[in-house]
Amino acid sequence: MQCPMCNVELTPTVRHKLTVGCCPSCKGMWLEARELGELEDEVFDFGEHAKGTLVVDATPTADKCPACRAALQRFRYRFYDLQMELCPSGHGYWLEDNEDTRVLELMNREEQDLKRKLRAEDRWASLLKHMRSRSFFDKLRDLFR
Ligand SMILES: [Zn+2]
Ligand SMILES: [Zn+2]
Repeated sequence: MQCPMCNVELTPTVRHKLTVGCCPSCKGMWLEARELGELEDEVFDFGEHAKGTLVVDATPTADKCPACRAALQRFRYRFYDLQMELCPSGHGYWLEDNEDTRVLELMNREEQDLKRKLRAEDRWASLLKHMRSRSFFDKLRDLFR
């Protein structure tokens, strides 16, 4: 698979506990969507933030899905102010260089403030697993209709 930005082959890389396809040129990363069923709720408590609108600013882009070449759609995950793009056919998500590290820093700060039981890195991995689940993806797709 190739990077949607620079057409360079993506390299499988483990970043913060999850394997992603990383672009050696722009350092962006591709997260393949998975058919995940239910996730253990105790791993990541979505209770509070799941109530409001989690996803805002949905806009189409000129970037192409590495799997099907469809135009990726950009959105913002409000709770962590995380910018991502997704394939409208559900192949996965594109994150820019260091977007994951920036969000992890936010989570680390929160971890110190709230004395969270879970480490920021575990929560980040859980968040991404959640975003790759079918139910979350279906919710997202409604935004682009
Ligand atoms: Zn690239
Ligand atoms: Zn696609």
